[in-house]
Amino acid sequence: MPLVLDHVTPRSEGGTDDPKNLCAACYRCNEFKGSKTHCVDPASGEIVPVFNPRTQSWAEHFAWMNGGTHIVGLTPMGRGTVILLHLNNEYVVEARRHWIGQGLHPPREP
Ligand SMILES: [Zn+2]
Repeated sequence: MPLVLDHVTPRSEGGTDDPKNLCAACYRCNEFKGSKTHCVDPASGEIVPVFNPRTQSWAEHFAWMNGGTHIVGLTPMGRGTVILLHLNNEYVVEARRHWIGQGLHPPREP
């Protein structure tokens, strides 16, 4: 899957090209994120920051479910990010099914 560089803090909000502000993202995630820095927790309606993969732990905010085909948010930030980035869209769920069949997914915990 081709990746693009996302600015965690968008340039429109003062984010720079410093590597600490860049993260590799798939095209779809990058399009859904756009210049957003916050999202809505669907459980509480609370507005929370979008998960930052450069500074935060994936395992604290997300878990795999259904054998690895779907991501579930464990925290307000996790739940909001799953919705904002459409992390369980039909294309990526199908890709995960193939990766699971090849033994490539889900990734092992560090
Ligand atoms: Zn993605």
